Amino acid sequence: MKKIILTGDRPTGPLHIGHYVGSLKRRVELQNSGEFDEIYIMIADAQALTDNMKNPEKIRENIVEVALDYLACGLSPDKSVLFIQSQIPELCEMTFYYLNLVTVARLELNPTVKSEIQMRQFEKNIPAGFLTYPVSQAADITAFDATLVPVGEDQSPMIEQTREIAKRFNHIYGDTLVEPKILLPDRNACMRLPGLDGKAKMSKSLGNCIYLSDSSDDIKKKVMSMYTDPTHLRVEDEGHIEGNTVFTYLDAFCEDRYFEEFLPEYANLDELKAHYQRGGLGDVKIKKFLNNILQDILNPIRERRIELAKDIPSVYEILKKGSITAREKASQTLSRMRKAMGINYFY
Ligand code: ATP
Ligand code: MG
Repeated sequence: MKKIILTGDRPTGPLHIGHYVGSLKRRVELQNSGEFDEIYIMIADAQALTDNMKNPEKIRENIVEVALDYLACGLSPDKSVLFIQSQIPELCEMTFYYLNLVTVARLELNPTVKSEIQMRQFEKNIPAGFLTYPVSQAADITAFDATLVPVGEDQSPMIEQTREIAKRFNHIYGDTLVEPKILLPDRNACMRLPGLDGKAKMSKSLGNCIYLSDSSDDIKKKVMSMYTDPTHLRVEDEGHIEGNTVFTYLDAFCEDRYFEEFLPEYANLDELKAHYQRGGLGDVKIKKFLNNILQDILNPIRERRIELAKDIPSVYEILKKGSITAREKASQTLSRMRKAMGINYFY
């Protein structure tokens, strides 16, 4: 069986450092490993419209932002197919069939969708498309015969739902669809990076983000105003690590080499944490360290992004070509499905 990756992002805003550690960095590594036969990276504009129906301009504008983030991080059109979801109408047809393979009760159990509904204050006015977006996501994944889906932890219920739909389809109509596996980040802190306020997950829709495109000054300002430990009032006080967002970010981004470069008094993160816990280490010092690390990671990404943004038509050209390739693949899968379902009347 071919090894195939499908993953993507909603164009609801430019990408942030949660995306970077949750999925983007891993995608680039997998792409460059040469171990995969096909890689599809989707900008999920149709999914983004399920909770932004009245704001299509926002989605339209952010397509190019997300594409620039992809290219700046090292996704390459020579190795990966970068495409736009709405340009693949086959996905809608698949979704329509899959909707018969799930119950409303099952959809209502999805914990990610549940918390998103709460966050968006839909209450009784949940758009039907929003409740069913995990089904459309199952179409996105199975249309490309994806074997592996590298994503953050909030996507676990979606991959589970996809596997259930694929299994059900195969059981009823015969072996047709590939059941994908999820690939979660290897560090705990990267599974669901919290927002700058330390409360909810960092999310474009909440605006609690450090964006990959933020200026060096903005990153510094955001880091210096980050939430730490409310009981750590004076430098000599004992500090807490749990729930301290600066340490969560250090867990997500720190490498030992950064100590040598920016904070040589400590050998590693464990030593820094121990000092903070016993007291005598101020918040400003750890924030400056985190700022240095983020600048080191984000400066080259931002510089590449600025270069790429000088030629926007080329970015659209990449997405156009990718969408043509993606459509060919999805249409082959759909033919296979129609045949299995016996709705290929004229062939
Ligand atoms: P929205 O608020 O519009 O849903 P988002 O910030 O949640 O936007 P998505 O486009 O929904 O971003 O997610 C794209 C990918 O990034 C998914 O694989 C998701 O798991 C991952 N991801 C998003 N936010 C985080 C986060 N804070 N930590 C780790 N991974 C994340
Ligand atoms: Mg999301």
